[in-house]
Amino acid sequence: MKVKEEEKYKGKGIRKCKICGTSRGLIRSHNLYICRRCFREVAKSLNFRKYG
Ligand SMILES: [Zn+2]
Repeated sequence: MKVKEEEKYKGKGIRKCKICGTSRGLIRSHNLYICRRCFREVAKSLNFRKYG
């Protein structure tokens, strides 16, 4: 059944990485809503530095 796939996205307030679409290891800080993996790529391009 193809409906099965759609049900995955029915959940309210589901957060997904806006780059790769995964919901694992999602970072919501800085209004990014991207996963840790993509965050590394974004951080690189933004020249984002982690202090501490
Ligand atoms: Zn991602």
